[in-house]
Amino acid sequence: MSVIQEVIAQVKEKDAGQPEFHQAVEEVMTTLEPTVAKHPEYVKAKIYERIVIPDRIIMFRVPWVDDKGEVQINRGYRVQFNNAIGPYKGGLRFHPTVNLGIIKFLGFEQIFKNSLTTLAMGGGKGGSDFDPKGKSDREVMAFCQSFMRELYRHIGPDTDVPAGDIGVGGREIGYLYGYYKKIVNEHTGVLTGKGLAYGGSLIRPEATGYGATYFAAEMMATRKLDFKGKTVAVSASGNVAQYTVEKVNQLGGKVITLSDSNGVVVDEAGVDKTKLDFVLDLKNNRRGRIKEYADKFKVEYIPGKSVWDVIREKGIHVDVAFPSACQNEIDKTNAEALVKNGCFCVSEGANMPSTLEAIQVYLDNNVLFGPAKAANAGGVATSGLEMAQNSMRLSWTSEEVDKRLHGIMKSIHQACLDAAEAYGKKGNYLAGANIAGFIKVADAMTAYGVV
Ligand code: NAP
Repeated sequence: MSVIQEVIAQVKEKDAGQPEFHQAVEEVMTTLEPTVAKHPEYVKAKIYERIVIPDRIIMFRVPWVDDKGEVQINRGYRVQFNNAIGPYKGGLRFHPTVNLGIIKFLGFEQIFKNSLTTLAMGGGKGGSDFDPKGKSDREVMAFCQSFMRELYRHIGPDTDVPAGDIGVGGREIGYLYGYYKKIVNEHTGVLTGKGLAYGGSLIRPEATGYGATYFAAEMMATRKLDFKGKTVAVSASGNVAQYTVEKVNQLGGKVITLSDSNGVVVDEAGVDKTKLDFVLDLKNNRRGRIKEYADKFKVEYIPGKSVWDVIREKGIHVDVAFPSACQNEIDKTNAEALVKNGCFCVSEGANMPSTLEAIQVYLDNNVLFGPAKAANAGGVATSGLEMAQNSMRLSWTSEEVDKRLHGIMKSIHQACLDAAEAYGKKGNYLAGANIAGFIKVADAMTAYGVV
């Protein structure tokens, strides 16, 4: 058995009951096979065995009081996975499905994603099974303050810098940062995704969606294609989805789908600027459901399904797909249907939205496939730019940040292509992203000796 297969088997045995973590390890490790022969120093230093074990895991209870005066308790997590190339960096997810295995998969992926950005950031992730949906602002604040009451002792601008993810947007970051500042008595860049008034960066809210679109544009350019006149499917209607739609529109594409966990809207005329403004207000201010879009603009609403189910069942033609909701939203059957309906490019805004079998369908059918850790790295890259601005105590213009983001996405795209070619996997962005991200971290870990 190769060292890679041994590591995968070990993880499945020792970290039982964490299927999403197993999936992420399998996806990354199998593509690292070509690095084994080229780097005997990694094998000797047991880098493959070490990299799948977090530096540490912090788990804690989060008690808070709801609007009825009742005590509520949630579980809090922070996985500090690897700080070989910089402070731990990665978002916080507040969603009822959160458990240790999900935070570990996200933290593991984050190591390689952050390395790919070329910025000095290690990998970490955290969150809670708290559900902000349907809670009052006061309840969300009470929860965030209790969460930070424990987390503050484990983070710091040079130690670990959390950000947002599902369920953690501007409102939650405000409450978390406000409480950190109060108890630590320091105004530092300890969180990213902050509001502009207190140290945030322009373009950070837009960065993940813009970046996933820039990455798709780079992939398409290798085949002399662009977004003009292309039909695009986007899932979800959260932060990543919203700014993917904005950038696709700017580049001349037409987005025909949006969704949330209740259902899907199909808008053949396209989600134009007016409709997108409605979505931004609906989701970021009024915190309503996507069905209201269908009611307002008189388009079709399909409850209880995903965008990918609807495309398969109705045989809707799409050129480009941006899964932007959650892990494993596209399975093999829906990937096959996407290909059958004309999709030639998939750029993953969400983390691990395609199952291993779905990815195989893309690869077998020559689909331009931008894996999450490359395609959605624009968010954390811009978080890195926010950290840089905080350290220098200055703010760049949106043009400056967007230019840097675009440059970083281009260089990630090139790094994927170069690494894939150097290791005998020409044109395979998945292998390229994993290998390019891994090499830098593995070199740093090797240099440190056995620590
Ligand atoms: P968000 O603003 O909280 O939006 C999440 C969206 O996904 C909502 O529309 C939500 O619908 C939908 N969704 C979540 N779980 C779902 C499920 N199980 N089934 C169906 N729909 C679901 O979060 P976000 O920041 O856009 O994150 C979306 C994805 O992008 C996540 O995978 C995240 O890890 C990834 N990502 C985000 C960033 C970033 O900078 N924000 C960076 C890199 C990657 P409901 O409102 O109905 O729940």
